Amino acid sequence: MVYSGRFTVATRGNDDICDITGLVEQAILESGVVNGIATVFVVGSTAAITTIEYEPGLAQDMKAALERVAPRDAYYAHEARWHDDNGHSHIRASLLGPSLTVPVVNGRMTLGAWQQIVLIDFDTRPRSRTIHVQILGE
Ligand code: ZN
Repeated sequence: MVYSGRFTVATRGNDDICDITGLVEQAILESGVVNGIATVFVVGSTAAITTIEYEPGLAQDMKAALERVAPRDAYYAHEARWHDDNGHSHIRASLLGPSLTVPVVNGRMTLGAWQQIVLIDFDTRPRSRTIHVQILGE
């Protein structure tokens, strides 16, 4: 079967890292799927979905690493063209990617004990993000 779920998350923008593991678990529970895969996808080109050990030290390290990869104050043709301020947001989002697929076995995601699913919002202002969870299985 195919189950389509979705939820929204209010973020603060500016690299806000939100733990959405519980919300994805809830969608899997609602689907009734016991064995299959869950794809988690965020709508928009300035946010990403990945996994991380969700703790303050690593959150800080992740933000610092992305600042080195796509610095906020670098030149971005996107900003010159559209007169906005989020060139770095788009690059960071594309590098991490908008989705994640997780196996579901015996009704549970096969995540590690220290592995959480996170939404990272790279935009430069608070946003309301829509996340789709598409679950395939039986
Ligand atoms: Zn933009």
